[in-house]
Amino acid sequence: MGFLPESFVEIDGVLVDRRIFTTPFVCDVVLQNCHSACCHRGCVVTTGDVERLTPHMDDIVRYLPEAKREFLSREGGSFVGDPRRQGTDMRPQETVAMIRFFKSPEDMRCTWVLDDGCVFLYPSTEQAPGSGQAVPVQYCAIHSYALERGMDWKAFKQADCVQYPLCVYRQDGRTVLALQEEPGRAGVPCLNNPIGPLMYRSLAGTIAYLLGEPFNEKVQAYGRAHFPERD
Ligand code: SF4
Ligand code: SF4
Repeated sequence: MGFLPESFVEIDGVLVDRRIFTTPFVCDVVLQNCHSACCHRGCVVTTGDVERLTPHMDDIVRYLPEAKREFLSREGGSFVGDPRRQGTDMRPQETVAMIRFFKSPEDMRCTWVLDDGCVFLYPSTEQAPGSGQAVPVQYCAIHSYALERGMDWKAFKQADCVQYPLCVYRQDGRTVLALQEEPGRAGVPCLNNPIGPLMYRSLAGTIAYLLGEPFNEKVQAYGRAHFPERD
């Protein structure tokens, strides 16, 4: 077997970031009190995302506050930000995470970012388990729209958002499944809270989305054999 970086294991020919077997992770906006921190820089948008989402925009924007609807209307309804006006340069990890959809990093575009968050975030409340108290949260209008219509949200939302916090890329002819730490690990509570199942379990659906269910089954088998849950 060839050299493998210590932080990766090889499963079915794919280099897999070992941290997905050792890091607890749960995406839960109430439990993590995160205000959807992973959305604060918006997300990378592909041509396919634009074609798929645009016909639904009139109904998606209904979830948004008036000021965001007016902003999008002034921009001609386009949710793709102008990088010169946004001032949010791509960080290397963000580029790596989505470069598979683009010819070059210069072609990459993100959603508009307003009020330090993606234009699709809207405020809501959730009842805290136990106390039943109303907790302020931020939801994604595209996610809510898909869920309320019984759509497959993984097939509908931007690929960048569906894959987070994982990503797939090619390096030296190899496929790599990695943990993505941008945007802004320090401000993303779920990447710092050691609660929940290990990532390979809580992100099984994401792994299947990225590399197919047969591959995910191999990851699950590897995880059970080498990193069984303590529960
Ligand atoms: S991935 Fe983390 S920061 Fe993003 S919505 Fe889920 S819990 Fe919140
Ligand atoms: S589209 Fe939704 S999930 Fe993606 S960054 Fe924007 S608010 Fe977050």
